[in-house]
Amino acid sequence: MSEPITRAGRAVGIDLGTTYSAIATIGPDGEPVIVPNREGERITPSVVLFQGDYVAVGSSARQAAAESPDDVVQFVKRKMGDRSWSFVTSGGEQIEAEMVSAAILRRLKEDAEIALGEPVTDAVITVPAYFDDARRRATIDAGEIAGLNVLGVINEPTAAAVSYGMHSGLQGTVLVYDLGGGTFDVTVMRIEGTDFRVLSVQGDRNLGGFNWDNELMGYIAREVQQVAGVDPLDDDLLSAELRDKAERAKRTMTTIPETRVMMRVDGKQHGIRVTRATFEDITRGLLAQTRTNVELALADAGVAATDVDHLLLVGGSTRMPMVRDLLTSMTGRQPRPGGNPDEAVALGAAVQAALLAARASADPADAPAAPAVPSTTLQVAIHDVTAHGLGVVTFDEGSGAYQNTVLLPRNSPVPGSGSEDFVTSEAGQTNVLVEITEGDDEDVEFVTVVGRGQIALPYRDDRTPVRVVISFSANAVIFAEVFDGGDGRKLGDLEIERRSNLSRNQLTRATAQLRRREVS
Ligand code: ADP
Ligand code: MG
Repeated sequence: MSEPITRAGRAVGIDLGTTYSAIATIGPDGEPVIVPNREGERITPSVVLFQGDYVAVGSSARQAAAESPDDVVQFVKRKMGDRSWSFVTSGGEQIEAEMVSAAILRRLKEDAEIALGEPVTDAVITVPAYFDDARRRATIDAGEIAGLNVLGVINEPTAAAVSYGMHSGLQGTVLVYDLGGGTFDVTVMRIEGTDFRVLSVQGDRNLGGFNWDNELMGYIAREVQQVAGVDPLDDDLLSAELRDKAERAKRTMTTIPETRVMMRVDGKQHGIRVTRATFEDITRGLLAQTRTNVELALADAGVAATDVDHLLLVGGSTRMPMVRDLLTSMTGRQPRPGGNPDEAVALGAAVQAALLAARASADPADAPAAPAVPSTTLQVAIHDVTAHGLGVVTFDEGSGAYQNTVLLPRNSPVPGSGSEDFVTSEAGQTNVLVEITEGDDEDVEFVTVVGRGQIALPYRDDRTPVRVVISFSANAVIFAEVFDGGDGRKLGDLEIERRSNLSRNQLTRATAQLRRREVS
């Protein structure tokens, strides 16, 4: 988008996760395969170290986090599309979330190029189904900064279902429960043959294993304070150490019902005993939040919990026994065995990348041809839905107040569009302000204005009829058009200004900056 990229290399699928990322492509036998990084790992920690012009990504950056926590960024996915956030290095440099994600993406791209022995040019990047427009846009921007031609974004649960479904011939109604490190998504799907249709999505973009870690950190800190009289959370280094140890203790308790966390405070070692029962007790509220989301998703899809044919668990946090127990008690089903919850998302994204690359190369305007893709992959059809409603701010003459009028309700198929007819408030009005919203609430307080613009109107003696059409492309891009409601003439396109995202100038600058840096 920022500059032309020759589309001659390989298309990949990238799972850009809160805690781990992975990259995959279609292998010679037509099945998607994970491409390991240069350290031979199949997933790369989403951790970035900035030290002067030097940038490190992955396990080495993660190791550095213990010694120099101030130079290391983790969980940046939670900050994507948030203009008020930036990472400040110990040298005082401000680094935007897109730039941090771009460093991860570039490292994945370069590692894949080493492993595959050919350039990687095109990518589909995954996003939580519940991500809004600003976060999707920020993800695409990060890909462009990393030097990738972003073919599109795909919802993570959808990608996971595609990979499981292709592999095991899954059919029927599928509940995908995706609890990763930082985000939570539920998706209800119907799979018929090679047709993957999403019925509904729900989620919480701030709920993940991170929150389970926080609860456990709090518990251990209180126990340490009791015996040592010092709260480890008051100290940056001790906090970083505690986060690490709590996360490890959590994993241990997935298989073993009890563990011990050692903390050294003021030169003295303290061993804190933690049991799975205690852990489940202090995180009960978090689990209940996921349950509410599952119920909402099922209700939106019009599917009873007992009508779910398959339970698909995605994301590392679904290894916790409490998650399995919850879902089995709700649906009466056991989760699908097999498949790797860490890899399924990237594998599904690789399928979508192959589909989109094949489509682009079939378009004569878009030569040269992408590598041939086996027909099994090309038979797959993916139909997704919007997670949030799209609408416009209107003035309700009855109540005399502004309200949000939804034109394209949530869970509408994408690509798709919705329209509605309005009239101007006054006769002879020669322009109108159109504000595009994202969100389902009628109250404008609870929705986000994603774009606004003035549209010039032809003069009329009376109030002017105006038709607003909002469309959502398969690529998750929103656009809006305004028509004269009288003669159907198009009056204008609405430029979505995207105040939450980088401007074109910032994007160009970030691309140049990352190119200058050495990413290893
Ligand atoms: P994301 O996609 O958000 O990066 P992942 O799907 O990679 O997340 O999952 C990472 C999360 O899974 C982390 O919070 C991690 O602590 C958690 N996790 C990984 N393995 C286990 C385990 N065995 N038991 C409990 N939690 C785990
Ligand atoms: Mg994930």
